Amino acid sequence: MNTLVVCSHCEKINRVPLDKVAAAHPVCGSCKAKLPLHDGVQDVSGAGLVKLIRTADQPVVVDFWAEWCGPCKAFAPTFTAAARQLGGQFIFAKLNTEQHGQAAQTYQIRSIPTLIVFKNGAEVDRQSGAMPQAMFTQYLARWKA
Ligand SMILES: [Zn+2]
Repeated sequence: MNTLVVCSHCEKINRVPLDKVAAAHPVCGSCKAKLPLHDGVQDVSGAGLVKLIRTADQPVVVDFWAEWCGPCKAFAPTFTAAARQLGGQFIFAKLNTEQHGQAAQTYQIRSIPTLIVFKNGAEVDRQSGAMPQAMFTQYLARWKA
């Protein structure tokens, strides 16, 4: 099984085998920069996200967050755990709303954390606020490809 990762350096989309994600830190096939992937979760910019949701066959789940946000930090391990469990079925991405303020505006993020699910290039749902692990897994099950 593969996941798609947008290179934060050259914005090329990389197809990365999930077993390789666990084994080593993958690099971009085009520019050889380290891909922004940690435990199956990738950091995206606004432009990267647009590319990702256009290309992905799987639904893309995005956690809009910021460094100063306590509930965001508390939710991070839950998001990572879900990525480990459902990495073949969904693409898990995080967008830092401080670093990518324009993207936060584009997606009209009013509070964080906000979770948005994209399917076939379009937003299908969004949730504001963190969720406990079991609830998050149940929530994602609704959007399986
Ligand atoms: Zn690259």
